[in-house]
Amino acid sequence: MKEHVMKILIVGNAKVGKTSFVHRYISGQFSSAYKTTVGAEFRVKVLQWSDKETVRLHIWDIAGQERFTSMTRVYYKAALGCVLMFDVTDSSSFLRCHQWKQDLDTKATLPGGAPIPCILLANKCDLPERVVTADSIAEFSKNNGFFTWMETSVRDNRNVDEAMRRLVQEILSVQ
Ligand code: GDP
Ligand code: MG
Repeated sequence: MKEHVMKILIVGNAKVGKTSFVHRYISGQFSSAYKTTVGAEFRVKVLQWSDKETVRLHIWDIAGQERFTSMTRVYYKAALGCVLMFDVTDSSSFLRCHQWKQDLDTKATLPGGAPIPCILLANKCDLPERVVTADSIAEFSKNNGFFTWMETSVRDNRNVDEAMRRLVQEILSVQ
């Protein structure tokens, strides 16, 4: 049995649904929270990926540091993948994704120097007061180096597992 260990970052503005996303993904599974010296927190989820492989995810939620927008390098250190989330009812959270992605790309790279795989998640798709269109998300995703983007609703449990599965798949494919 081969075990892959992956550090995954969840970034994006405050209130877009990051913590809810992590809880939704982890709930019902074994998980544990740790406190580190820098005050960040990660949760663990173990996936049976195939007959011969398990994947142990260390999911880092930025937990209250969103206002700084620029994160410390410690947070990014050794990360293999990233979820960048915004709220489709909050255009400023979408506009800020550009900065989040730039910060990520300058601080988190694979051993060979390439940017780490990042998925763009358009959350709160259950809400009627949506202001960010699918066209603008698709264009932004294409122009800013995301391997894909998805609409999610953490509330309705839409695309939560699927998004994480795509990210793990992408991480394995670039290793
Ligand atoms: P964070 O600051 O990014 O960690 O966001 P939270 O997870 O704390 O969520 C902020 C608020 O958005 C909370 O009131 C959540 O219940 C709500 N929320 C999160 N995801 C969704 C969603 O998919 N749909 C709706 N309608 N509300 C959501
Ligand atoms: Mg949070």
